[in-house]
Amino acid sequence: MRTPDHPLLIIPGPVEVRQEVLEAQTEWMIGHRSKEFVALFERLQHKLQQAFLTGGRVYILGASGSGFWEAGSRNCIREGKKALHLVSGAFSERWATVSRANGKEVDTIELEWGEAFATQMVADALQKERYDAVCMIHNETSTGIINPVREIGEVVKGYPETLFLVDVVSSFLGAELRVDEWGIDMALTSSQKALGLPPGIAFAAVSERVLARAEEVPNRGYYFDLLVLEKSAKKNNTPTTPPISLMFAGDMQLDAILEEGVENRWARHLSLRDQTIEWALSRGFGLFAPEGSRSPTVTAIANDREIDVEAMAAFMRGEGYAMDRGYGKLRGKTFRIAHMGDMQAETLEGVLASLDKFLAQGES
Ligand code: PLP
Repeated sequence: MRTPDHPLLIIPGPVEVRQEVLEAQTEWMIGHRSKEFVALFERLQHKLQQAFLTGGRVYILGASGSGFWEAGSRNCIREGKKALHLVSGAFSERWATVSRANGKEVDTIELEWGEAFATQMVADALQKERYDAVCMIHNETSTGIINPVREIGEVVKGYPETLFLVDVVSSFLGAELRVDEWGIDMALTSSQKALGLPPGIAFAAVSERVLARAEEVPNRGYYFDLLVLEKSAKKNNTPTTPPISLMFAGDMQLDAILEEGVENRWARHLSLRDQTIEWALSRGFGLFAPEGSRSPTVTAIANDREIDVEAMAAFMRGEGYAMDRGYGKLRGKTFRIAHMGDMQAETLEGVLASLDKFLAQGES
């Protein structure tokens, strides 16, 4: 909610959280070994399966999304085997770093930031070498690129030893995602993006194949050991104390999401993206992402007009909005408009109208 004390978050996470969802966190605490908790876990499980479009299990963990990177790397890559990481942006770079930090052998296909992966690149790499896993980011939040996960999944399906691990942190519930149909073995996400929750809880839809692989991997640690999570999940529980308040919020938010309809939610995000693109192009900006790879949840606007993005962000703060100024090495060269979560067209209109006021200032 935009108030004099609180700027509305237009940054790509954490996103704005609806007040009633925030308030759901203030429910009285319950013990995680109680019947009430088991019922809460079971309800969430059922709703998450509908959200991920999977018939399999979805783990719930007190962590940010990076925790499940660690879990994917630790559980799915055997000693003496390798993972193939598709790297093109800050988050894909970091996941490869996480795999290496866990002592795993990693090969990469590296593209310039702002490029999307083509299916053929993965097909060629898998023909040359055997991999235990292909690890990729569905939606590169740093560059505003969406990658062709469905098509790459078709290629990976041809290699029974290769698990397909996909970071859906900034695509889940904002872009089309069909975990079972697309052959994804692990789809991992945080809560603070298009799901529209506060940060601190992470979710991962995980296949039987992943669990079978984990059996073959020693030294999986404890907190991110998927076999430990599985044992508890079977009893509708978690091995360690979970973020119960966030689960209350998730329970409410997933009801609202399922009522909106997952496909309608994807369509709303696409329409917000198009509204943003139309604004940017008509105001003389470019777009960082090439056509066909433009993210439904975040648009990276190429700063072709060379506006002062620090001044823009300061102006927008005065208008009641918290704005991004570009990620990492793209800071200033791009700025991102996040259009994800529960954002509606009218809200985005307000943001764009304020940006217009800023631009008009520069012209006067
Ligand atoms: N993956 C992507 C695509 C992200 O955008 C982010 C964070 O913005 C992460 C992973 C890391 O997620 P977290 O900060 O929840 O650990």
